[in-house]
Amino acid sequence: MSTPKIQELIKNNDFIRRAYDLAKKQHEGQKRQTGDPYFNHVSQTAEFVAQWGLDQTAIAAALLHDTVEDTGYSLEKIKTEFGEEVSFLVDGVTKLGKIKYRGVERQVENLRKMILALSQDIRVIIVKLADRLHNMQTLNAVPPQKQKRIALETMEIYAPLAYRLGMQKISGELEDLSFPYIYPREYRWLIEHAKEKYEERERYTEKVKPIVMEAIKKAGIDALMIDSRAKRYSSLYKKLLRYDMDIEKIYDLVALRIVVKSVADCYAVLGIIHNLWPPLPNRIKDYIALPKPNGYRSIHTTVFCVDNKITEIQIRTQEMHDEAETGIAAHWAYEQFKGTEDYLDKKSVTANKKELQWVQQLRSWQKEFAHPEEFLESLKIDFFKDRIFAITPKGEVIDLPSGATPVDFAYQIHTEIGNSCTGAKVNGKIVSLDYRLRSGDIVDIITQKNKKPSESWINFIKTSHARNHIRAAIKGKTVQLSKREPKEVELKIVVEDRVGLLKDVTVIISRSHINIIAINTITNAKFPILKIRCDITNKEKIEKLLVKLKKLKEIKEIGYQLI
Ligand code: MN
Repeated sequence: MSTPKIQELIKNNDFIRRAYDLAKKQHEGQKRQTGDPYFNHVSQTAEFVAQWGLDQTAIAAALLHDTVEDTGYSLEKIKTEFGEEVSFLVDGVTKLGKIKYRGVERQVENLRKMILALSQDIRVIIVKLADRLHNMQTLNAVPPQKQKRIALETMEIYAPLAYRLGMQKISGELEDLSFPYIYPREYRWLIEHAKEKYEERERYTEKVKPIVMEAIKKAGIDALMIDSRAKRYSSLYKKLLRYDMDIEKIYDLVALRIVVKSVADCYAVLGIIHNLWPPLPNRIKDYIALPKPNGYRSIHTTVFCVDNKITEIQIRTQEMHDEAETGIAAHWAYEQFKGTEDYLDKKSVTANKKELQWVQQLRSWQKEFAHPEEFLESLKIDFFKDRIFAITPKGEVIDLPSGATPVDFAYQIHTEIGNSCTGAKVNGKIVSLDYRLRSGDIVDIITQKNKKPSESWINFIKTSHARNHIRAAIKGKTVQLSKREPKEVELKIVVEDRVGLLKDVTVIISRSHINIIAINTITNAKFPILKIRCDITNKEKIEKLLVKLKKLKEIKEIGYQLI
Protein backbone atom coordinates (compact mmCIF):
# COMPACT_ATOMS: atom_id res chain seq x y z
CA MET A 1 0.00 0.00 0.00
CA SER A 2 1.44 3.35 -0.86
CA THR A 3 1.44 5.92 1.87
CA PRO A 4 2.90 9.02 0.26
CA LYS A 5 2.84 11.45 3.14
CA ILE A 6 4.46 9.07 5.59
CA GLN A 7 7.14 8.16 3.04
CA GLU A 8 7.98 11.82 2.74
CA LEU A 9 7.93 12.36 6.50
CA ILE A 10 10.33 9.56 7.33
CA LYS A 11 12.87 11.17 5.03
CA ASN A 12 12.66 14.53 6.73
CA ASN A 13 11.67 13.87 10.30
CA ASP A 14 13.91 11.85 12.51
CA PHE A 15 11.35 11.42 15.28
CA ILE A 16 8.74 9.95 12.94
CA ARG A 17 11.34 7.79 11.22
CA ARG A 18 12.35 6.23 14.51
CA ALA A 19 8.73 5.42 15.31
CA TYR A 20 8.31 4.03 11.80
CA ASP A 21 11.36 1.79 12.08
CA LEU A 22 10.40 0.55 15.52
CA ALA A 23 6.84 -0.28 14.44
CA LYS A 24 8.15 -2.07 11.38
CA LYS A 25 10.54 -4.12 13.47
CA GLN A 26 7.95 -4.94 16.12
CA HIS A 27 5.28 -6.07 13.65
CA GLU A 28 7.79 -8.02 11.57
CA GLY A 29 6.26 -11.25 10.32
CA GLN A 30 2.77 -10.44 11.63
CA LYS A 31 -0.06 -10.62 9.13
CA ARG A 32 -3.49 -9.04 8.98
CA GLN A 33 -6.55 -11.12 8.22
CA THR A 34 -6.33 -9.72 4.70
CA GLY A 35 -2.97 -11.45 4.38
CA ASP A 36 -1.20 -8.11 4.22
CA PRO A 37 1.74 -7.41 6.51
CA TYR A 38 0.46 -6.01 9.81
CA PHE A 39 2.73 -3.02 9.44
CA ASN A 40 0.62 -1.78 6.52
CA HIS A 41 -2.18 -1.17 8.97
CA VAL A 42 -0.21 1.04 11.34
CA SER A 43 1.48 2.86 8.51
CA GLN A 44 -1.90 3.57 6.88
CA THR A 45 -3.29 4.74 10.22
CA ALA A 46 -0.37 7.15 10.56
CA GLU A 47 -0.93 8.25 6.97
CA PHE A 48 -4.47 9.38 7.80
CA VAL A 49 -3.32 11.16 10.92
CA ALA A 50 -0.65 12.97 8.90
CA GLN A 51 -3.12 13.89 6.15
CA TRP A 52 -5.45 15.39 8.72
CA GLY A 53 -2.69 17.73 9.75
CA LEU A 54 -1.77 16.44 13.18
CA ASP A 55 1.61 16.90 14.81
CA GLN A 56 4.55 14.50 14.96
CA THR A 57 3.55 13.24 18.41
CA ALA A 58 0.23 12.01 17.08
CA ILE A 59 1.83 10.57 13.94
CA ALA A 60 4.38 8.65 16.00
CA ALA A 61 1.62 7.42 18.30
CA ALA A 62 -0.36 6.24 15.27
CA LEU A 63 2.65 4.25 14.06
CA LEU A 64 3.08 2.71 17.50
CA HIS A 65 -0.60 2.33 18.41
CA ASP A 66 -0.64 -1.47 18.24
CA THR A 67 2.85 -2.23 19.55
CA VAL A 68 1.86 -2.51 23.21
CA GLU A 69 -1.22 -4.61 22.61
CA ASP A 70 0.01 -6.78 19.74
CA THR A 71 3.78 -7.06 20.07
CA GLY A 72 4.34 -6.80 23.80
CA TYR A 73 6.62 -3.79 23.50
CA SER A 74 6.23 -2.02 26.83
CA LEU A 75 4.71 1.37 27.39
CA GLU A 76 7.69 2.19 29.58
CA LYS A 77 10.03 1.70 26.67
CA ILE A 78 7.90 3.91 24.45
CA LYS A 79 8.09 6.56 27.14
CA THR A 80 11.88 6.34 27.29
CA GLU A 81 12.27 6.32 23.52
CA PHE A 82 9.59 8.82 22.47
CA GLY A 83 8.56 10.70 25.57
CA GLU A 84 5.58 10.97 27.84
CA GLU A 85 3.11 12.33 25.30
CA VAL A 86 3.53 9.54 22.76
CA SER A 87 3.22 6.92 25.47
CA PHE A 88 0.11 8.66 26.83
CA LEU A 89 -1.50 8.62 23.39
CA VAL A 90 -0.59 4.99 22.72
CA ASP A 91 -1.94 4.03 26.12
CA GLY A 92 -5.16 5.92 25.43
CA VAL A 93 -5.71 4.24 22.07
CA THR A 94 -5.00 0.84 23.63
CA LYS A 95 -7.58 1.50 26.34
CA LEU A 96 -10.20 2.58 23.82
CA GLY A 97 -9.60 -0.68 22.00
CA LYS A 98 -10.94 -2.53 25.01
CA ILE A 99 -14.28 -0.77 24.97
CA LYS A 100 -16.84 -2.73 23.04
CA TYR A 101 -20.32 -1.77 21.99
CA ARG A 102 -22.53 -4.75 22.61
CA GLY A 103 -25.65 -3.48 20.99
CA VAL A 104 -27.49 -2.15 24.02
CA GLU A 105 -29.02 0.86 22.35
CA ARG A 106 -29.63 3.03 25.38
CA GLN A 107 -25.96 2.66 26.32
CA VAL A 108 -24.74 4.36 23.19
CA GLU A 109 -24.60 7.85 24.60
CA ASN A 110 -22.80 6.79 27.76
CA LEU A 111 -20.29 4.86 25.74
CA ARG A 112 -19.49 7.90 23.63
CA LYS A 113 -19.10 9.96 26.78
CA MET A 114 -16.83 7.35 28.25
CA ILE A 115 -14.64 7.38 25.16
CA LEU A 116 -14.29 11.15 25.40
CA ALA A 117 -13.66 11.03 29.12
CA LEU A 118 -11.09 8.27 28.78
CA SER A 119 -9.28 9.98 25.97
CA GLN A 120 -8.61 13.25 27.79
CA ASP A 121 -6.55 14.36 24.85
CA ILE A 122 -8.46 14.79 21.61
CA ARG A 123 -5.53 13.29 19.67
CA VAL A 124 -6.29 9.91 21.25
CA ILE A 125 -9.69 9.93 19.55
CA ILE A 126 -8.27 11.12 16.27
CA VAL A 127 -5.68 8.31 16.17
CA LYS A 128 -8.44 5.88 17.11
CA LEU A 129 -10.62 7.18 14.27
CA ALA A 130 -7.76 6.70 11.82
CA ASP A 131 -7.27 3.16 13.13
CA ARG A 132 -10.98 2.45 12.77
CA LEU A 133 -11.13 3.94 9.29
CA HIS A 134 -8.46 1.55 8.07
CA ASN A 135 -10.05 -1.38 9.88
CA MET A 136 -13.35 -0.61 8.16
CA GLN A 137 -11.67 -0.40 4.78
CA THR A 138 -10.34 -3.90 5.31
CA LEU A 139 -13.35 -5.35 7.14
CA ASN A 140 -14.05 -7.74 4.28
CA ALA A 141 -11.36 -10.11 5.51
CA VAL A 142 -12.85 -10.41 9.01
CA PRO A 143 -15.24 -13.28 9.92
CA PRO A 144 -18.93 -12.33 9.34
CA GLN A 145 -19.99 -12.36 13.01
CA LYS A 146 -17.23 -9.96 13.92
CA GLN A 147 -17.88 -7.82 10.85
CA LYS A 148 -21.35 -7.00 11.99
CA ARG A 149 -20.31 -6.10 15.54
CA ILE A 150 -17.49 -3.86 14.37
CA ALA A 151 -19.67 -2.20 11.74
CA LEU A 152 -22.40 -1.55 14.29
CA GLU A 153 -19.91 -0.10 16.74
CA THR A 154 -18.55 2.12 14.00
CA MET A 155 -22.01 3.32 12.97
CA GLU A 156 -23.27 3.89 16.52
CA ILE A 157 -20.17 5.10 18.32
CA TYR A 158 -17.31 6.23 16.12
CA ALA A 159 -19.09 7.87 13.19
CA PRO A 160 -21.15 10.11 15.52
CA LEU A 161 -18.03 10.95 17.52
CA ALA A 162 -16.24 11.99 14.35
CA TYR A 163 -19.26 14.06 13.38
CA ARG A 164 -19.28 15.86 16.70
CA LEU A 165 -15.64 16.70 16.24
CA GLY A 166 -16.61 18.28 12.94
CA MET A 167 -14.88 15.53 10.96
CA GLN A 168 -17.80 15.18 8.58
CA LYS A 169 -15.92 13.51 5.79
CA ILE A 170 -14.48 10.83 8.06
CA SER A 171 -17.83 10.40 9.79
CA GLY A 172 -19.54 9.93 6.43
CA GLU A 173 -16.89 7.51 5.25
CA LEU A 174 -17.22 5.44 8.40
CA GLU A 175 -21.01 5.31 7.97
CA ASP A 176 -20.75 4.36 4.33
CA LEU A 177 -18.27 1.61 5.11
CA SER A 178 -20.50 0.22 7.90
CA PHE A 179 -23.77 0.44 6.02
CA PRO A 180 -23.51 -2.67 3.78
CA TYR A 181 -22.56 -4.86 6.75
CA ILE A 182 -25.43 -3.70 8.92
CA TYR A 183 -28.12 -3.36 6.27
CA PRO A 184 -27.10 -5.68 3.42
CA ARG A 185 -30.57 -5.83 1.86
CA GLU A 186 -31.14 -2.11 2.03
CA TYR A 187 -27.72 -1.56 0.57
CA ARG A 188 -28.52 -3.77 -2.40
CA TRP A 189 -31.81 -1.95 -2.85
CA LEU A 190 -30.00 1.36 -2.95
CA ILE A 191 -27.40 0.18 -5.43
CA GLU A 192 -30.18 -1.03 -7.69
CA HIS A 193 -32.33 2.06 -7.42
CA ALA A 194 -29.88 4.88 -6.99
CA LYS A 195 -26.90 4.08 -9.14
CA GLU A 196 -28.37 5.21 -12.43
CA LYS A 197 -29.88 8.24 -10.83
CA TYR A 198 -26.49 9.21 -9.45
CA GLU A 199 -24.85 8.85 -12.84
CA GLU A 200 -27.57 10.85 -14.53
CA ARG A 201 -27.19 13.63 -11.94
CA GLU A 202 -23.41 13.62 -12.29
CA ARG A 203 -23.73 14.15 -16.02
CA TYR A 204 -26.24 16.90 -15.42
CA THR A 205 -23.95 18.71 -12.97
CA GLU A 206 -21.22 18.63 -15.56
CA LYS A 207 -23.52 20.69 -17.79
CA VAL A 208 -24.19 23.22 -15.03
CA LYS A 209 -20.55 23.70 -14.07
CA PRO A 210 -19.33 25.79 -17.03
CA ILE A 211 -22.32 28.12 -16.74
CA VAL A 212 -21.51 28.82 -13.11
CA MET A 213 -17.83 29.18 -13.84
CA GLU A 214 -18.47 31.68 -16.59
CA ALA A 215 -20.80 33.83 -14.46
CA ILE A 216 -18.41 33.88 -11.50
CA LYS A 217 -15.49 34.85 -13.72
CA LYS A 218 -17.49 37.62 -15.32
CA ALA A 219 -18.13 39.09 -11.87
CA GLY A 220 -14.37 39.14 -11.27
CA ILE A 221 -14.37 36.46 -8.58
CA ASP A 222 -11.76 33.73 -8.36
CA ALA A 223 -13.24 30.30 -7.91
CA LEU A 224 -10.67 27.98 -6.35
CA MET A 225 -12.71 24.89 -7.11
CA ILE A 226 -16.05 23.95 -8.60
CA ASP A 227 -16.97 20.33 -8.43
CA SER A 228 -19.84 18.01 -7.75
CA ARG A 229 -20.42 16.10 -4.57
CA ALA A 230 -22.45 12.91 -4.61
CA LYS A 231 -24.52 12.25 -1.53
CA ARG A 232 -23.35 9.25 0.45
CA TYR A 233 -25.36 6.05 0.31
CA SER A 234 -25.80 5.93 4.07
CA SER A 235 -27.13 9.47 4.34
CA LEU A 236 -29.25 9.01 1.21
CA TYR A 237 -30.83 6.02 2.83
CA LYS A 238 -31.61 7.94 6.03
CA LYS A 239 -33.16 10.69 3.96
CA LEU A 240 -35.16 8.28 1.81
CA LEU A 241 -36.74 6.89 4.95
CA ARG A 242 -38.10 10.36 5.59
CA TYR A 243 -39.26 10.83 1.98
CA ASP A 244 -41.30 7.67 1.38
CA MET A 245 -38.32 6.09 -0.40
CA ASP A 246 -38.96 8.43 -3.31
CA ILE A 247 -35.61 9.25 -4.83
CA GLU A 248 -37.14 11.98 -7.02
CA LYS A 249 -37.66 14.05 -3.91
CA ILE A 250 -33.99 14.09 -2.98
CA TYR A 251 -32.60 17.33 -4.41
CA ASP A 252 -29.07 17.04 -3.13
CA LEU A 253 -28.28 13.61 -4.57
CA VAL A 254 -25.50 15.39 -6.37
CA ALA A 255 -24.71 18.93 -5.26
CA LEU A 256 -22.51 21.48 -6.90
CA ARG A 257 -19.78 22.75 -4.62
CA ILE A 258 -18.04 26.09 -5.13
CA VAL A 259 -14.93 27.01 -3.16
CA VAL A 260 -13.85 30.67 -3.17
CA LYS A 261 -11.26 32.83 -1.42
CA SER A 262 -13.24 34.85 1.12
CA VAL A 263 -16.49 35.06 3.00
CA ALA A 264 -17.41 38.15 0.97
CA ASP A 265 -16.93 36.09 -2.19
CA CYS A 266 -19.27 33.42 -0.79
CA TYR A 267 -22.13 35.89 -0.52
CA ALA A 268 -21.30 37.42 -3.89
CA VAL A 269 -21.48 33.98 -5.50
CA LEU A 270 -24.80 33.33 -3.78
CA GLY A 271 -26.10 36.51 -5.46
CA ILE A 272 -24.75 35.41 -8.82
CA ILE A 273 -26.41 32.00 -8.51
CA HIS A 274 -29.77 33.49 -7.57
CA ASN A 275 -29.45 35.85 -10.48
CA LEU A 276 -29.02 32.87 -12.81
CA TRP A 277 -31.70 30.65 -11.31
CA PRO A 278 -34.51 31.34 -8.85
CA PRO A 279 -34.03 29.76 -5.44
CA LEU A 280 -36.58 27.49 -3.81
CA PRO A 281 -38.09 29.36 -0.90
CA ASN A 282 -36.93 28.30 2.57
CA ARG A 283 -34.02 26.30 1.22
CA ILE A 284 -31.30 28.90 1.66
CA LYS A 285 -29.15 27.88 4.60
CA ASP A 286 -26.51 30.27 5.81
CA TYR A 287 -24.23 28.15 7.96
CA ILE A 288 -21.58 30.86 7.74
CA ALA A 289 -23.61 33.32 9.78
CA LEU A 290 -24.98 30.47 11.89
CA PRO A 291 -22.61 27.51 11.87
CA LYS A 292 -23.92 24.06 12.71
CA PRO A 293 -23.22 23.06 16.29
CA ASN A 294 -20.35 20.82 15.17
CA GLY A 295 -18.69 23.83 13.56
CA TYR A 296 -19.75 23.23 9.95
CA ARG A 297 -19.78 26.41 7.87
CA SER A 298 -21.01 26.85 4.30
CA ILE A 299 -23.89 28.40 2.38
CA HIS A 300 -26.41 26.01 0.85
CA THR A 301 -29.05 27.02 -1.62
CA THR A 302 -31.41 25.02 -3.79
CA VAL A 303 -32.36 26.47 -7.17
CA PHE A 304 -34.48 25.70 -10.22
CA CYS A 305 -31.44 25.11 -12.37
CA VAL A 306 -30.82 24.25 -16.03
CA ASP A 307 -33.89 22.53 -17.55
CA ASN A 308 -35.74 23.54 -14.38
CA LYS A 309 -34.12 20.76 -12.42
CA ILE A 310 -33.96 21.32 -8.70
CA THR A 311 -30.30 21.43 -7.69
CA GLU A 312 -28.42 22.11 -4.48
CA ILE A 313 -25.40 24.38 -4.54
CA GLN A 314 -22.89 24.76 -1.68
CA ILE A 315 -20.58 27.73 -1.35
CA ARG A 316 -17.65 28.02 1.05
CA THR A 317 -14.05 29.17 1.52
CA GLN A 318 -11.04 26.86 1.39
CA GLU A 319 -10.64 27.00 5.16
CA MET A 320 -14.28 26.06 5.67
CA HIS A 321 -13.84 23.28 3.16
CA ASP A 322 -10.82 21.82 4.97
CA GLU A 323 -12.61 22.10 8.28
CA ALA A 324 -15.64 20.30 6.94
CA GLU A 325 -13.36 17.48 5.90
CA THR A 326 -11.33 17.04 9.06
CA GLY A 327 -13.04 19.26 11.60
CA ILE A 328 -11.27 19.70 14.87
CA ALA A 329 -8.05 18.40 13.38
CA ALA A 330 -8.03 21.07 10.68
CA HIS A 331 -9.14 23.69 13.13
CA TRP A 332 -6.32 22.82 15.36
CA ALA A 333 -3.75 22.66 12.59
CA TYR A 334 -4.79 26.09 11.36
CA GLU A 335 -4.60 27.70 14.77
CA GLN A 336 -1.48 26.00 15.92
CA PHE A 337 0.70 26.28 12.91
CA LYS A 338 -0.44 29.55 11.40
CA GLY A 339 2.45 31.02 9.51
CA THR A 340 4.90 28.20 10.04
CA GLU A 341 5.89 26.08 7.11
CA ASP A 342 7.63 23.30 8.93
CA TYR A 343 5.06 22.61 11.56
CA LEU A 344 6.51 19.22 12.28
CA ASP A 345 9.59 20.77 13.80
CA LYS A 346 7.44 22.64 16.25
CA LYS A 347 7.43 21.25 19.71
CA SER A 348 4.39 19.06 20.03
CA VAL A 349 1.38 20.76 21.50
CA THR A 350 -1.12 19.96 24.12
CA ALA A 351 -4.49 19.78 22.50
CA ASN A 352 -6.29 20.58 25.68
CA LYS A 353 -6.32 24.33 25.70
CA LYS A 354 -7.22 24.71 22.06
CA GLU A 355 -9.74 22.00 22.25
CA LEU A 356 -11.43 23.53 25.25
CA GLN A 357 -11.71 26.83 23.44
CA TRP A 358 -13.28 24.98 20.60
CA VAL A 359 -15.71 23.39 22.99
CA GLN A 360 -16.43 26.79 24.52
CA GLN A 361 -17.18 28.09 21.09
CA LEU A 362 -19.56 25.24 20.50
CA ARG A 363 -21.25 26.01 23.72
CA SER A 364 -21.83 29.61 22.76
CA TRP A 365 -23.14 28.49 19.40
CA GLN A 366 -25.50 26.21 21.18
CA LYS A 367 -26.99 29.19 22.99
CA GLU A 368 -27.61 30.92 19.69
CA PHE A 369 -29.54 28.04 18.32
CA ALA A 370 -33.29 28.01 18.66
CA HIS A 371 -33.32 24.24 18.26
CA PRO A 372 -29.96 22.96 19.44
CA GLU A 373 -29.47 19.47 18.21
CA GLU A 374 -29.27 16.97 20.99
CA PHE A 375 -25.79 15.80 20.09
CA LEU A 376 -24.18 18.82 21.70
CA GLU A 377 -24.96 17.35 25.05
CA SER A 378 -22.18 14.84 24.83
CA LEU A 379 -19.40 16.69 23.14
CA LYS A 380 -17.74 18.42 25.99
CA ILE A 381 -14.73 16.63 27.28
CA ASP A 382 -14.31 19.22 30.02
CA PHE A 383 -17.83 18.52 31.17
CA PHE A 384 -16.75 15.06 32.16
CA LYS A 385 -14.00 15.99 34.53
CA ASP A 386 -16.37 15.43 37.45
CA ARG A 387 -17.75 12.17 36.12
CA ILE A 388 -16.32 8.73 35.69
CA PHE A 389 -17.64 5.92 33.52
CA ALA A 390 -17.18 2.40 34.78
CA ILE A 391 -18.36 -0.76 33.04
CA THR A 392 -20.18 -3.85 34.25
CA PRO A 393 -18.75 -7.21 33.14
CA LYS A 394 -21.52 -7.27 30.53
CA GLY A 395 -20.44 -4.00 29.04
CA GLU A 396 -23.03 -1.69 30.50
CA VAL A 397 -21.62 1.75 31.21
CA ILE A 398 -22.38 3.19 34.64
CA ASP A 399 -22.09 6.95 34.98
CA LEU A 400 -20.85 8.08 38.43
CA PRO A 401 -19.41 11.17 40.10
CA SER A 402 -15.63 11.18 40.29
CA GLY A 403 -14.34 9.56 43.45
CA ALA A 404 -17.13 7.00 43.37
CA THR A 405 -16.43 3.59 44.86
CA PRO A 406 -17.54 0.01 44.07
CA VAL A 407 -20.34 0.50 46.62
CA ASP A 408 -21.74 3.46 44.67
CA PHE A 409 -21.41 1.40 41.53
CA ALA A 410 -23.29 -1.52 43.11
CA TYR A 411 -26.21 0.65 44.24
CA GLN A 412 -26.35 2.26 40.83
CA ILE A 413 -26.96 -1.13 39.25
CA HIS A 414 -29.58 -2.27 41.73
CA THR A 415 -30.48 -1.73 45.38
CA GLU A 416 -30.22 -5.45 46.07
CA ILE A 417 -26.72 -5.63 44.62
CA GLY A 418 -25.70 -2.70 46.78
CA ASN A 419 -27.20 -4.18 49.92
CA SER A 420 -25.66 -7.60 49.43
CA CYS A 421 -22.27 -6.35 48.27
CA THR A 422 -19.28 -7.94 50.07
CA GLY A 423 -16.41 -7.17 47.76
CA ALA A 424 -15.41 -6.05 44.30
CA LYS A 425 -13.07 -6.86 41.50
CA VAL A 426 -11.76 -4.09 39.30
CA ASN A 427 -10.22 -5.17 36.00
CA GLY A 428 -10.00 -8.68 37.39
CA LYS A 429 -8.27 -7.78 40.66
CA ILE A 430 -9.85 -7.71 44.11
CA VAL A 431 -10.00 -4.20 45.51
CA SER A 432 -11.24 -2.72 48.78
CA LEU A 433 -14.74 -1.28 48.84
CA ASP A 434 -13.46 2.26 49.26
CA TYR A 435 -11.38 1.99 46.09
CA ARG A 436 -11.73 5.07 43.86
CA LEU A 437 -12.99 3.97 40.48
CA ARG A 438 -11.60 5.39 37.27
CA SER A 439 -13.12 5.74 33.82
CA GLY A 440 -12.91 2.53 31.85
CA ASP A 441 -12.65 0.29 34.93
CA ILE A 442 -14.51 -2.99 34.55
CA VAL A 443 -16.20 -3.57 37.89
CA ASP A 444 -17.48 -6.91 39.08
CA ILE A 445 -19.44 -6.76 42.35
CA ILE A 446 -19.23 -9.78 44.64
CA THR A 447 -22.46 -10.37 46.55
CA GLN A 448 -23.68 -12.60 49.32
CA LYS A 449 -27.31 -13.38 50.07
CA ASN A 450 -29.00 -11.86 53.13
CA LYS A 451 -26.11 -9.60 53.83
CA LYS A 452 -26.68 -6.13 55.22
CA PRO A 453 -24.74 -3.03 54.26
CA SER A 454 -22.21 -1.68 56.73
CA GLU A 455 -22.70 1.70 58.34
CA SER A 456 -19.03 2.50 57.80
CA TRP A 457 -19.65 2.67 54.05
CA ILE A 458 -21.29 6.04 54.61
CA ASN A 459 -17.81 7.45 55.31
CA PHE A 460 -16.45 6.83 51.83
CA ILE A 461 -19.33 6.61 49.38
CA LYS A 462 -19.99 9.47 46.97
CA THR A 463 -23.58 9.23 45.83
CA SER A 464 -26.64 10.19 47.83
CA HIS A 465 -28.40 7.36 46.07
CA ALA A 466 -26.15 4.85 47.84
CA ARG A 467 -26.36 6.76 51.14
CA ASN A 468 -30.17 6.71 51.22
CA HIS A 469 -30.28 3.01 50.53
CA ILE A 470 -27.62 2.15 53.10
CA ARG A 471 -29.44 4.14 55.81
CA ALA A 472 -32.72 2.55 54.89
CA ALA A 473 -31.32 -0.95 54.93
CA ILE A 474 -29.70 -0.42 58.32
CA LYS A 475 -32.93 0.88 59.78
CA GLY A 476 -34.70 -1.99 58.14
CA LYS A 477 -37.19 0.00 56.19
CA THR A 478 -37.57 1.16 52.65
CA VAL A 479 -37.22 4.84 51.96
CA GLN A 480 -39.18 6.89 49.56
CA LEU A 481 -36.59 7.62 46.96
CA SER A 482 -36.53 10.62 44.75
CA LYS A 483 -35.71 8.36 41.85
CA ARG A 484 -38.20 5.52 41.74
CA GLU A 485 -37.16 2.08 40.63
CA PRO A 486 -38.36 1.12 37.17
CA LYS A 487 -41.37 -1.17 37.12
CA GLU A 488 -41.69 -2.03 33.46
CA VAL A 489 -39.71 -2.37 30.30
CA GLU A 490 -40.62 -0.83 26.98
CA LEU A 491 -39.33 -2.69 23.95
CA LYS A 492 -38.91 -0.70 20.78
CA ILE A 493 -38.86 -2.94 17.74
CA VAL A 494 -38.37 -1.73 14.19
CA VAL A 495 -39.85 -4.26 11.79
CA GLU A 496 -40.47 -5.00 8.19
CA ASP A 497 -44.15 -5.69 8.40
CA ARG A 498 -45.92 -8.85 7.29
CA VAL A 499 -49.19 -10.51 8.14
CA GLY A 500 -48.93 -12.34 11.41
CA LEU A 501 -45.70 -10.75 12.56
CA LEU A 502 -47.23 -9.10 15.61
CA LYS A 503 -48.67 -12.43 16.65
CA ASP A 504 -45.27 -14.12 16.30
CA VAL A 505 -43.69 -11.42 18.43
CA THR A 506 -46.28 -11.71 21.17
CA VAL A 507 -46.06 -15.51 21.16
CA ILE A 508 -42.31 -15.32 21.78
CA ILE A 509 -42.89 -12.92 24.67
CA SER A 510 -45.62 -14.93 26.33
CA ARG A 511 -43.68 -18.20 25.89
CA SER A 512 -40.94 -16.54 27.91
CA HIS A 513 -43.55 -16.17 30.69
CA ILE A 514 -43.56 -12.41 30.42
CA ASN A 515 -46.77 -10.40 30.59
CA ILE A 516 -47.52 -7.80 27.98
CA ILE A 517 -49.06 -4.64 29.42
CA ALA A 518 -49.53 -2.58 26.29
CA ILE A 519 -48.76 -2.64 22.59
CA ASN A 520 -48.40 0.41 20.39
CA THR A 521 -47.62 0.54 16.70
CA ILE A 522 -46.21 3.49 14.82
CA THR A 523 -46.69 3.00 11.11
CA ASN A 524 -45.87 6.27 9.40
CA ALA A 525 -42.24 5.38 8.73
CA LYS A 526 -40.97 3.02 6.05
CA PHE A 527 -40.47 0.43 8.73
CA PRO A 528 -43.20 0.27 11.35
CA ILE A 529 -42.18 0.46 14.99
CA LEU A 530 -43.72 -1.73 17.69
CA LYS A 531 -43.63 -0.45 21.21
CA ILE A 532 -44.40 -3.18 23.70
CA ARG A 533 -44.52 -2.71 27.46
CA CYS A 534 -43.93 -5.74 29.67
CA ASP A 535 -43.90 -6.21 33.40
CA ILE A 536 -40.25 -7.20 33.86
CA THR A 537 -37.22 -5.15 34.81
CA ASN A 538 -34.63 -7.90 35.13
CA LYS A 539 -31.98 -7.02 32.57
CA GLU A 540 -30.79 -10.55 32.10
CA LYS A 541 -34.32 -11.69 31.28
CA ILE A 542 -34.82 -8.79 28.93
CA GLU A 543 -31.59 -9.50 27.09
CA LYS A 544 -32.57 -13.15 26.73
CA LEU A 545 -35.90 -12.10 25.29
CA LEU A 546 -34.18 -9.78 22.83
CA VAL A 547 -32.01 -12.63 21.60
CA LYS A 548 -35.12 -14.72 20.94
CA LEU A 549 -36.90 -11.88 19.18
CA LYS A 550 -33.91 -11.09 17.01
CA LYS A 551 -34.30 -14.50 15.41
CA LEU A 552 -37.34 -13.20 13.54
CA LYS A 553 -35.85 -12.02 10.30
CA GLU A 554 -38.33 -9.17 9.89
CA ILE A 555 -36.97 -7.48 12.99
CA LYS A 556 -34.56 -4.81 11.87
CA GLU A 557 -33.70 -3.17 15.14
CA ILE A 558 -34.57 -3.70 18.75
CA GLY A 559 -33.90 -1.75 21.89
CA TYR A 560 -35.41 -1.30 25.32
CA GLN A 561 -35.86 1.15 28.11
CA LEU A 562 -36.81 0.61 31.73
CA ILE A 563 -39.69 2.81 32.75
MN1 MN B 1 -4.98 -0.87 15.03
